[in-house]
Amino acid sequence: MSAAGRTVEHITCLGCGCACDDICVVVQHDRIGEARNACALGAAWFGDGSITQDVRVHGRTASLEQALDEAARILRAAQRPLVYLAVDLSCEAQREAVALADRLGAMLDGVSSGAAAGILAAQRRGRAGATLGEIRQRADVIVFWGTDPAERYPRFTSRYAVEPRGLQTPEGRSSRTVIAVDVGAKRGPRDAAARVAVAPGDEIDALGVMRATVQSRRATEDERFQSAVELARRMSAGRYVALVADGEPGAAPADGDVAEALVTLAQALNAPTRCALVVLRGGGNRSGAEAVLTWQTGFPFAVDFAPGYPSYRPRPGAIGLLAVGELDAALVIGSPASLPEPMATGLAPLVTVAIGPRVSAASFKPAVAVDTGVAGIHEGGTAFRMDDVPLPLRPVLTGPPTAAGTLRSLRERLGA
Ligand code: SF4
Repeated sequence: MSAAGRTVEHITCLGCGCACDDICVVVQHDRIGEARNACALGAAWFGDGSITQDVRVHGRTASLEQALDEAARILRAAQRPLVYLAVDLSCEAQREAVALADRLGAMLDGVSSGAAAGILAAQRRGRAGATLGEIRQRADVIVFWGTDPAERYPRFTSRYAVEPRGLQTPEGRSSRTVIAVDVGAKRGPRDAAARVAVAPGDEIDALGVMRATVQSRRATEDERFQSAVELARRMSAGRYVALVADGEPGAAPADGDVAEALVTLAQALNAPTRCALVVLRGGGNRSGAEAVLTWQTGFPFAVDFAPGYPSYRPRPGAIGLLAVGELDAALVIGSPASLPEPMATGLAPLVTVAIGPRVSAASFKPAVAVDTGVAGIHEGGTAFRMDDVPLPLRPVLTGPPTAAGTLRSLRERLGA
């Protein structure tokens, strides 16, 4: 190898749901020296590519064979097991997880349950969406509803929504109007051309007033909503509107009514113009998990195999079942750092098998821990961008056993 190392082009970053596939990784001395084109969040996600490679059984170093034997014994003995999907997994590994959950008659859930409000609203009402490529080519009015992508999706505006030149937006940003809606402390982009302020307590009403305005029903005289009425008129006059909201916990509408109001506003706008609701999603192939589960079971998360067939249980979901003590063992797959706090603490009293990147350091102290590589850095396969476009993953480093291969070996031990 030359002192400059080797360069691997067209790598997909899973640091956030943008899944930028233009990353050029420079590998030096079996470490990532540089991730060109990646933003700071992406560079942090790649790191230097180093990863723990431990296999542990009850806290002691063990062989992979011993670990899989003990994992099979624990899961076979479980009365009410949970299979929980965290992040940094390929779709191939997620598919193995579904097969395992089916074999075990387990509750299958994952970090997607944190985005439940938006997913359930879209299931109830049907979401008018679009690929990010279509937004890039056509959207001339972009409304950021209570979110600034610069914080959690840093290249969203430069790659997809605001800056790029497109077929219908030949001058890039100057061909588009960017409007920020500030919902209390949740503010839109600082450099937006126009701003609208909405009090958090008025959010659902503001969205309802906007929908009524778009549908040409009588507009309200209430002073509080006049800027929302103006915004609805501006959106109706656009040629192609992108309504952008954050779908992840901490930013997403925790309230399902707000999520549903966004869905129905986007639908209403498709009468006078074209509108797509763009839901920003986090990294680590979260959208891939929803795609695989939907394809394999009919449901995107919270699938219970206990009845002998896939059954949808978004409420209470795995966290709710943990809270009432219904689960007695768990197979946690993926990076444990992504677990929501109630899940990480709820797992502590359970006997747990963990398979995924850096699981040997998990705070819930698994009985069996098998470290694997990170999908997109050490493992190949497929991942989904936030707009459900599948992208190939090309590993740049060799690492520990793959998650998909380890899960397959476990499944074979369980006789499936
Ligand atoms: S925007 Fe997201 S996917 Fe793109 S480089 Fe940054 S972290 Fe990675």
